[in-house]
Amino acid sequence: MNRREFIVGVSSTALIAGTAEAKSGFYTGYPHQITDWTAQHFTAREFASKGNGYVSVSREMIAALDRVRAAVGHSIHITSGYRDPAHNARVGGVKHSRHLLSDAVDINLRGLSSPQRHALTWHLLAEGFSSFGTYSRHGFMHADMRPHARIWHVGTGTHPAWFRQALSDWGWQRDHGATRTPRIRITRT
Ligand SMILES: [Zn+2]
Repeated sequence: MNRREFIVGVSSTALIAGTAEAKSGFYTGYPHQITDWTAQHFTAREFASKGNGYVSVSREMIAALDRVRAAVGHSIHITSGYRDPAHNARVGGVKHSRHLLSDAVDINLRGLSSPQRHALTWHLLAEGFSSFGTYSRHGFMHADMRPHARIWHVGTGTHPAWFRQALSDWGWQRDHGATRTPRIRITRT
């Protein structure tokens, strides 16, 4: 391969890579670099890592959250979206945190009533969020879209009543079944 062929080869690879990225299931880049953001109720900046400022979030999750936001009719305050690995380690996130895999959010619950928390959870379930962690004493809830559903609670002996009611009302155990929830594990951490 001569030099000219090498350069042509590199640029066509770059073009292919650029096309593949544009069609992939993720928004990636620093917030100002993301030009095809479609959510009405959220900005890319809200999901940026609090470490390096980078964003990598699933398009499916953003679209789902946008629909949840429209359904509940009040703002949804994201306290953690994407985490770069160094930041995840600094905040004590687990090694395989879904925040690294771009389909997780932590949502601030402070200022929301129990009925609002219940409705929020119900709509998250309805839009495909499979897994939840309640952190009652810290005033937030984790939600993600992992394939194998899992729920957990931290800091209290059980899930809050509004959360249990939302699972029950949505029919989580009964209907969330085979496709999205092959395995239901309720753990305490
Ligand atoms: Zn989280």
